[in-house]
Amino acid sequence: GGLTVSDLAEKINKDTSELIKKLMTLGVMATKNQNLDAESIELICEEYGVEVEEEIVLDATDFDNFITEDKEEDLIERPAVVTIMGHVDHGKTTLLDSIRDTKVTEGEAGGITQHIGAYQIVENNKRITFLDTPGHAAFTSMRSRGAQVTDIAILVVAADDGVMPQTVEAINHAKAAEVPIIIAVNKIDKEGANPDRVMQELSEHGLIPEDWGGDTIFVQLSAIKKEGIDDLLEMILLVSEVEELKANPNRNATGTVIEAELDKGRGSVATLLVQNGTLNVGDSIVVGNTFGRVRAMVNDLGRRVKTAGPSTPVEITGLSGVPEAGDPFMVFEDERKARQIGEARQQKHIVEKRNDKVKVSLDDLFEHIKQGNMKEINLVLKADVQGSVEALASSLEKIDVEGVKIKIIHTGAGAITESDIILASASNAIVIGFNVRPDANARKTAESEKVDVRLHRVIYKVIEEIESAMKGMLDPEY
Ligand code: GDP
Repeated sequence: GGLTVSDLAEKINKDTSELIKKLMTLGVMATKNQNLDAESIELICEEYGVEVEEEIVLDATDFDNFITEDKEEDLIERPAVVTIMGHVDHGKTTLLDSIRDTKVTEGEAGGITQHIGAYQIVENNKRITFLDTPGHAAFTSMRSRGAQVTDIAILVVAADDGVMPQTVEAINHAKAAEVPIIIAVNKIDKEGANPDRVMQELSEHGLIPEDWGGDTIFVQLSAIKKEGIDDLLEMILLVSEVEELKANPNRNATGTVIEAELDKGRGSVATLLVQNGTLNVGDSIVVGNTFGRVRAMVNDLGRRVKTAGPSTPVEITGLSGVPEAGDPFMVFEDERKARQIGEARQQKHIVEKRNDKVKVSLDDLFEHIKQGNMKEINLVLKADVQGSVEALASSLEKIDVEGVKIKIIHTGAGAITESDIILASASNAIVIGFNVRPDANARKTAESEKVDVRLHRVIYKVIEEIESAMKGMLDPEY
């Protein structure tokens, strides 16, 4: 939540137009509906001798409130960030590897490639950054978290296979993100390769080649034979130029987490893509809901670096926790402020998590077990008669899967009631009904509390289902 120029004018009893002029004299160009950053608000308040009241204190958990707009003259060209998309087996991974192989061995002798989630190459003295996870799923999951990192999408289409379902999906995802698309017609070395057909089929989706009067760039290549790679890179540079991709390297870094994990030796390790500014070793940084100081930075060649400018991916250590891919990051001038904002974001996250408590279900049981955060599986057992309850309980207790125990926290004869569900919800348990069903209230509560209720009529089916879930072999339910 920000504060616009007119909001501020109202709060401090000034004309909006006067405020706009005053902002100009302070070097801030803003229209009346534009959000102001904390710094500009402070400046204005100082100028008019107004105390910054509680009311206009900004939400400390929102990075947008700390970002100042760059002046046009401070912006310089930055490398494009490219994602490779396309149907399965059309050659996305091969293309990523080929680009890297050809370019890295040419430029950076002695470098040992490190998979940190993204890499950078040099073509015609200009750099290009590639995200290492191909496909639109990663692309869109980042976007759904508010992160827009891709500048250009490369759509790989195998010339012997043509447009397939995931090709169309990728087109739609790229279009939704308003990212320019370059078509890489791959596998032209193959017998049966038919690039014309690919062009025809893509035209039907609005991607019309330049040769046919459209404005979509098509490059023919063979990822496996490393043919046409330079053509593709040159086209990327061309599109980058048209897009006028710019950043200001002379400011505190902001950007997005590409991937992160907990490393046994190094602790939290995160690959960050710097999108604006320059990241330095020693910087105080807030990343997602965690924070710290950048202890060390390693680039995609496994080399230690001290700084990373716009569009550069680097792997950092020094964070107190593990962020998530798609999380934003921001560097703060002083460590106190970073800590304060990091803690505020952490707090907010905990509250949100609590409100959105995720319940265990048989479908994700194995995932929980694998991650080691589930040593006991809680069950609530209901059956038509007491005899069945006991038979079922003793069979379930015999299930033997290494590292996990079954714990029956409640049993009873009769229908599944609301109170069974509430108990299961509070204990993160799964409810099993044997020859019984939930009553109407129980069904409603199970739905709202997201409690997994499983109904059966044969004992061995119950055992089989639980056992397969524990081993990660459950057939998905549709
Ligand atoms: P992805 O699923 O899109 O990442 O596809 P892959 O990169 O894994 O490639 C799928 C298969 O196509 C692999 O067996 C590759 O060796 C093969 N392949 C990729 N590019 C080419 C190419 O240019 N020519 C030929 N003939 N095969 C290729």
